[in-house]
Amino acid sequence: MTFSWTPHRFSGGALALDVANSVILRFDPAHSVDRFADKANLDAFPEAARRLCAERPDSNLRPLPLGRAEGLIRLREAIDRHFRAEALGSPSAHLLADLLDEIARALRAGETGDLDFETAMSALRLISPQRGGALKICPNCEWLFLDRSKNKSRAWCDMAVCGNRVKARLHYRKKKLEKDAS
Ligand SMILES: [Zn+2]
Repeated sequence: MTFSWTPHRFSGGALALDVANSVILRFDPAHSVDRFADKANLDAFPEAARRLCAERPDSNLRPLPLGRAEGLIRLREAIDRHFRAEALGSPSAHLLADLLDEIARALRAGETGDLDFETAMSALRLISPQRGGALKICPNCEWLFLDRSKNKSRAWCDMAVCGNRVKARLHYRKKKLEKDAS
């Protein structure tokens, strides 16, 4: 099956979070998939992000120059660890320091428009108290997302995908219970 960067894959609300969410089922090693492990997917990401990322990144956002994928992956993992801990209510100064190291590295290595550079800038904006949203973890897929809604009531990374999947599962369970009871 060919993979494509669909709107669902940009549910994070910020470039740094969409990058973090390029790992599917991060906590389930048997099913986990790193979408950036395939170079074609990684190279196609910036073009899709220009169209689909909520942050509307720089129109110059372009694929990574050769030899920088490893740094981007390190930055991605530092983003996930830091913001996940924060969303879980246990922020850590050490994880923040690790993230700041990776951000500094990416900013030194790149320039405006480079995927690693722009991801680092996005992460910096997320660290800021003025980021304009609440950081959450989707209870279905465990992706990180920034809830920018006024009353901070967004429950899912993407209602159309994760919200409906959970509703369908609950519905199925309820029907099954009813059937078993009858
Ligand atoms: Zn989700």
